[in-house]
Amino acid sequence: MAGPIPWHLLPDTAAVNADGRLSIGGCDLLDLAREFGTPLFVYDELHLRARCRAASTQFPNNASYATKAFLCGAMARLAHEEGMHLDVATAGELFVALHAGVPGADIIFHGNNKSVAELRMALGARVGRIIVDSFDELDRLDALHAETGVRPCVLLRVTPGVEAHTHEYIATGQDDSKFGFTVSSGLAEIAVKRALQSPSVELVGIHAHIGSQVFRLDSFARSVAVLAEFSRPYDLAELSIGGGLGVAYVEGEEAPTIGQWGAAMRAACAAQGITARIAVEPGRSIVAAAAVTLYTVGTIKELAGIRTYLAVDGGMSDNPRPVLYGSGYEAFLPRAVLAPRSRPVTVVGKHCESGDLLIRDGWVPADAAVGDILATPVTGAYGHSMGSNYQKVQRPPVVFVSNGDARLVVRRETLDDLVRFEV
Ligand SMILES: *Cc1c(COP(=O)(O)O)cnc(C)c1O
Repeated sequence: MAGPIPWHLLPDTAAVNADGRLSIGGCDLLDLAREFGTPLFVYDELHLRARCRAASTQFPNNASYATKAFLCGAMARLAHEEGMHLDVATAGELFVALHAGVPGADIIFHGNNKSVAELRMALGARVGRIIVDSFDELDRLDALHAETGVRPCVLLRVTPGVEAHTHEYIATGQDDSKFGFTVSSGLAEIAVKRALQSPSVELVGIHAHIGSQVFRLDSFARSVAVLAEFSRPYDLAELSIGGGLGVAYVEGEEAPTIGQWGAAMRAACAAQGITARIAVEPGRSIVAAAAVTLYTVGTIKELAGIRTYLAVDGGMSDNPRPVLYGSGYEAFLPRAVLAPRSRPVTVVGKHCESGDLLIRDGWVPADAAVGDILATPVTGAYGHSMGSNYQKVQRPPVVFVSNGDARLVVRRETLDDLVRFEV
């Protein structure tokens, strides 16, 4: 037995009307499902703007939105309008950010294996920063400097040897990592010395990203301490601690706010006597709780004494996180948002795999029925962006809602889209 959906998992402008129906951004969710179909990603625009503004207020001029969490032109423009820079890690993300009108100078380019073509594109766009990840990349930048004459501002990514207390697949700060130059092995020191003497790059700072879905501010503080100690002899202007601030997905979870993150980082810097600028790259904490996904319930299969399977018209193709990381989610019925959820269900998708589940142990109101619209909150990060066309499903549309207005920013894919690349 579970109570109503915990209110703190819903977007900022969530409101319930006299009939118990949920609206976001002044738009009734059932109306949105009818107008745009399901599955549907609904983003609360004011929530997105508030999180971007929180980041750019806490870390003025030094907060970059990590676009891999969720990217489309509208999102790129929104984050940039609210004072954030954009963090991209592939030619594709760079293209979408530039296409949206974000100036190259406000883009930082990441990646542990950037190709020569990607680096050439980044130099051509005059990106503000390149975060260099390897000696091979320094070699490539030497060659590209000879070719183009461009001398980019770079940060070196280091692995600080900090355990982030998160899922193994998204922990990136430990020594055994494919990312960056390891501090403890001495590679980071060699890299800094090389970059400082290099005519082809201008070294402006050090970067570390310890992982994602990190709840403990002391993990970030330890990263700051390692970065401070490591960089002290070089007097560099910038220290980037990456992204990774966690969010609450299910009942009982609570995550620090962006404001608390900022305060903790200022305290950590003060404790270390750091005068360098602290930069951050939040992704999940900007977008995750801003969105809910709407599905239509298609079948309910009751297995007495075993479990009840509630199948929706999406699944691992719009939210692969449960399959990838065993992530937990909650569900609710937008038509009865205040109803207690007394019926235990396993929410599964429509794909031909038993692993295709969205919620292993979920709860819905007792009268949940075929045809109902079911919503999963906190699906704004790493859902749409990690989504796929598996089994040739058409990826869902994205709407931004605000002040009673629903703006379609990514349309639903069509059947024709599925054969667009065939020659
Ligand atoms: C993924 C990533 C981020 C964003 O992580 P979140 O957990 O979404 O905040 C920031 N920086 C780098 C280098 C990343 O790889």
